[in-house]
Amino acid sequence: MRLDEAAAGLYLPILYRLGRRPYPALVRDLTVSERLDPERLQALQLARLQALVTHCYEHVPYYRRLFDGLGAQPDDIRSLEDYARLPVLEKETLRAELPSLTSTNEHGRRLMRSVATSGSTGTPLVYQYDPRYFLYGWAALMRNIGWTGFRLGERQAWFAFSAPGGTKRAVRLWLERKWLAKELAFDEEMIDRWARHLARWQPRFVYGAPSSRLAPIAAHMLAHDIRPVGIRSVMTSSEMLTEGLRRLLEQAFEAKVFNQYGSTECLSIASECEAGSMHVNAEVNLVEYVRLDWTQEAHAVVVTPLMNYGIPLLRYVLRDLSDDLPGACACGRTLPRMHPLLGRADSSVTLSDGRTLTPFAMEGLVARVPGIVQYQYRQIAPDAFDLLIVSPPESRDSVRSALADLDERFTTSTGGNAHFNVRFVDTIARTKGGKHLFVVPLGEARRHET
Ligand SMILES: [Zn+2]
Repeated sequence: MRLDEAAAGLYLPILYRLGRRPYPALVRDLTVSERLDPERLQALQLARLQALVTHCYEHVPYYRRLFDGLGAQPDDIRSLEDYARLPVLEKETLRAELPSLTSTNEHGRRLMRSVATSGSTGTPLVYQYDPRYFLYGWAALMRNIGWTGFRLGERQAWFAFSAPGGTKRAVRLWLERKWLAKELAFDEEMIDRWARHLARWQPRFVYGAPSSRLAPIAAHMLAHDIRPVGIRSVMTSSEMLTEGLRRLLEQAFEAKVFNQYGSTECLSIASECEAGSMHVNAEVNLVEYVRLDWTQEAHAVVVTPLMNYGIPLLRYVLRDLSDDLPGACACGRTLPRMHPLLGRADSSVTLSDGRTLTPFAMEGLVARVPGIVQYQYRQIAPDAFDLLIVSPPESRDSVRSALADLDERFTTSTGGNAHFNVRFVDTIARTKGGKHLFVVPLGEARRHET
């Protein structure tokens, strides 16, 4: 460990405690609870859930109304099965009912840090965090980062969409040995600067969105023979991680890649361990997988942030599809596991017969084909798609043969109408905000022409 990292490792716990952010202590608690017997872990979840529901009934007008309407009392919830009978909360309802979903006691008065998030309709929603939940949520993410081998005080490079901060924040980042690339838009020159910074500054840990942020940097490093030194792990978040992307990042950064799944409102929901399982941060988020109208055969991820009392979200629907993955993990942690994400619902497309096609089928078909670095489905007619693929020239033959029977499978799985053509391209254009889209529905395709 370098001198600055060793020093930061010593003073950071004291600084966090002085700033009333006892992260090291919270992370220590979490490293105990992540190995509890499943029954004890469930009991912990249920106790936190019952406390939250009681708070909602007493101090949150929306939930008081809901319970009264159902003729129910918080005491009626004696198990997770009882809880699963409550209706789910959609983002549209959160937007419309924000004032009545805000707690009327001190939890609702101490909200911090507004964040904007966009729903399926693209309308932004401004959400505010409960400071205590934010603390627990960050501690859970720090625990997840610890699973990658990272230790407090080590240098970390973050490529994250983040609000600009003042001098105080800049000082804190410096003390935390945390470098943040927060530019939304970037060009080749910026990518070159980032890549050389990583090689020179030598962080141990790199965090960022795999397609829109880390892939261009990784490709640039390989093309210009820029070797990173000492990166131990890379954490990807916010976007689907394909097998091809994982391999590209592991090759360029010479480090193991860990995928993490979260949302603006629910913070870190699940994260990969050394053994490759996505473990749910069950102490802070209760996760359910629920079949809803739009999910067809699949299940939507439904989350209840257990420590969030400011604007509580009971059974909050995320537009992501996944499922429970039963069985024990080789790492020894008992936290429940989830399937790697199977798709986002925001990019659903409508076929000529009026049926909606979720990305579940579309993404599931290509996400595991080795050699695909990036892909995008573009709907060019109601039943026709271009499948754009970025793949190294030497992998194209194997990708092509892996996809050979895919059109047929795709046609079958969509009910016999839809077809797609594979097109190999060098790059796939990003949106103005720098995001990579996996599915571009008809009508929007024109705006994303390369
Ligand atoms: Zn594990």
